[in-house]
Amino acid sequence: MSKPLPRLPSVRDLIKLYGLSAKSQLSQNFILDKNITDKIARCADINPAQAAVIEVGPGPGLLTRSLLDLGVQRMVVVEKDARFLPTLHQLADAAGGRLKVIHGDMLRVKHDQLLELLGQTPARSVDQDVRFHLVGNLPFSVATPLLAQWLNHLSQKSGIFANPDTSMTLMFQDEVAQRIVAPVATSPRGRLSIAAQSLCHTHIAYPLSASVFVPQPKVNAAVVGLTPLREPLLKVPFSQLEHVTRFLFSSRRKTLRRTIKNLDPQYLPLIDQCGIDANLRAQDLTTEEFNTFAEVLMQAKVPLPP
Ligand code: SAM
Repeated sequence: MSKPLPRLPSVRDLIKLYGLSAKSQLSQNFILDKNITDKIARCADINPAQAAVIEVGPGPGLLTRSLLDLGVQRMVVVEKDARFLPTLHQLADAAGGRLKVIHGDMLRVKHDQLLELLGQTPARSVDQDVRFHLVGNLPFSVATPLLAQWLNHLSQKSGIFANPDTSMTLMFQDEVAQRIVAPVATSPRGRLSIAAQSLCHTHIAYPLSASVFVPQPKVNAAVVGLTPLREPLLKVPFSQLEHVTRFLFSSRRKTLRRTIKNLDPQYLPLIDQCGIDANLRAQDLTTEEFNTFAEVLMQAKVPLPP
């Protein structure tokens, strides 16, 4: 068991000390209640002996402290805003080698760099006993592109997803969280639901009211847990599935038959070939049906829908 962190200034005091006012363009909404960050950290279901944790957007570092308090031995944080670096480096010093800090944009950070800082090189042969956890109170403005990028990595078993157990415990605005976990035939179901559920089990781990954030955003939030499926439903390149979902969800209120007829009728026989009822709307299809259609399209070698 690792030593507890030495006493550090409170995050509230650090924010005052460094004059860290929130920048809305970086989606900065902080959580300053350690009971809440402790609970988010517990949602990640971390076994400290095996875990290598990557936290995105640590800001002043309260969730980082909660993760370290669990006894995590290997952790990297990626923060875009340089104003937080002094407080994060102070925390890294206190954590005695357990925490590394990257100043950068998570959309651009190379996974090889993350792996190296977590003591895992080369990327293609990561230690299968290490369990990677991607955790973060994500910047709402880039949360969806980040998730799409990670799902793409997961589909290729690349980077930090080379290990099939890599889990994600991520905060999204509630509306996005509901889309990720949406079951068949519900209104939030859409492209993001299919992309996530083709590769992962998804669940809402912790709903949070907007009032727990400083400054308070206009919308509530939720922590979503995503754990890779042992047998992914996705059998085609991720980009092919994305193309198919964009096509079929292009007119949400119309039946598939109407959508397809309007866009390109040559796909109608292929829908029938998959045993999919063309009188349904896209949101009524199962994740398996989307994946079957994507596969049939690929095998038929017809050009992808526009
Ligand atoms: N983890 C802190 C908390 O819970 O209080 C801060 C969360 S705040 C919602 C999002 C954080 O992500 C901010 O610190 C922001 O500067 C950072 N951020 C924004 N865009 C980023 C990006 N592309 N890559 C890495 N960090 C980013």
